[in-house]
Amino acid sequence: MAQARNLGINGQRLWDSLMEMAKIGATVKGGCCRLALTDLDKQARDLFVRWCAQAGCTMRVDRMGNIFARRAGRRPDLAPVMTGSHLDTQPTGGRFDGVYGVLAGLEVVRTLNDLGLETDRSVEVAVWTNEEGSRFAPAMVASGVFAGVFDLDYGLSRADEDGKTMGAELERIGYAGTEPVGGREIHAFFETHIEQGPILEHENKTIGIVTDAQGQRWYELNLTGVESHAGPTPMGRRKDALLGAARIVELVNRTGLDNAPYACATVGMMKVLPNSRNVIPGRVFLTVDFRHPSDEVLAGMDASLRAGVGRICKDIGLGCEIEQIFYYKPVHFNDTCVASVRQGAAEFGYSTREIVSGAGHDACYLAKVAPTAMIFVPCVDGISHNEVEDAKPEWITAGANVLLHAVLDKAGHLA
Ligand SMILES: [Zn+2]
Repeated sequence: MAQARNLGINGQRLWDSLMEMAKIGATVKGGCCRLALTDLDKQARDLFVRWCAQAGCTMRVDRMGNIFARRAGRRPDLAPVMTGSHLDTQPTGGRFDGVYGVLAGLEVVRTLNDLGLETDRSVEVAVWTNEEGSRFAPAMVASGVFAGVFDLDYGLSRADEDGKTMGAELERIGYAGTEPVGGREIHAFFETHIEQGPILEHENKTIGIVTDAQGQRWYELNLTGVESHAGPTPMGRRKDALLGAARIVELVNRTGLDNAPYACATVGMMKVLPNSRNVIPGRVFLTVDFRHPSDEVLAGMDASLRAGVGRICKDIGLGCEIEQIFYYKPVHFNDTCVASVRQGAAEFGYSTREIVSGAGHDACYLAKVAPTAMIFVPCVDGISHNEVEDAKPEWITAGANVLLHAVLDKAGHLA
């Protein structure tokens, strides 16, 4: 698309908008705490809505509180091209996770306005409710409802620790919309996001062309041994549940290493009972988190875990319950959307690398109902879900430039 060459977004305006948004829920350590459907989330939504209205967009809110800002195209009968992410954060979150994908979308709209560029298809900027899953579990619940993964009643009935439901909190902050959730055609969906890992920065690449997102399997294990006195019980007569857990931690780590380079394998939580210094632990609860972009490899990791845990528990004489509590299939993003991203990066001569997303994103659910791709930019030291989360302005500009071109490529445009 020759006439698209050298068109770029306004990096300073995008940065200023990010910093303005970051004031809502700003923490003393320079991060953000903007939990889903709190008063602060409402303020952030209100600011986004005001900016979009100023940019000439029409606004719609669906029953899950997802917001869609639409810049009309020449052919309103055609399915829109959509981009977006989330405005909620972790309790000790950063200034870029999610909000970057939302405001990069707004910056694309503002740039199209500046240039007087019409697109054939309408362009929509989406804000997905409760992506983080911090206040209301599970994560990405509203894009999940949009994609038909969860039903609406399930989504609206998710409750926080105080028993307040998403449905009631959406009413309270004035974002319980009337639009049906999903069920409409989307021509393409793009999500721009910080990598939340160290690879791009380490390799000195500006743009991550995201081809896949890892699948995940989460487990809960309950090991049962025999509690007994740490003094009088000889070593050979113990059924130590924590010893079993220690060997399982080693097994999980080895399973990850055996499936390098893409596998991730983590024991993140353990509860030892009775957790007393002079009692041999009788029970241990622990969690396992496996991730890999290939479903087959994940299934192999599952088999290794089950066989290994069986062996360990038999050796020590432990009882064991192992339950898979979450399964999230790997996502392969749409090849033509990925090509639009690759081409956008090439237009600017940015250094690129193909990359697999290690985290879940709204785009992973959108991929079920629309051709979808993601654009990653580096973040400093790979740190995210942390108040020190940071990104360089040139990375922020680059990702939005690539988004602009990917959107134009899919929306079709006239100078
Ligand atoms: Zn995010």
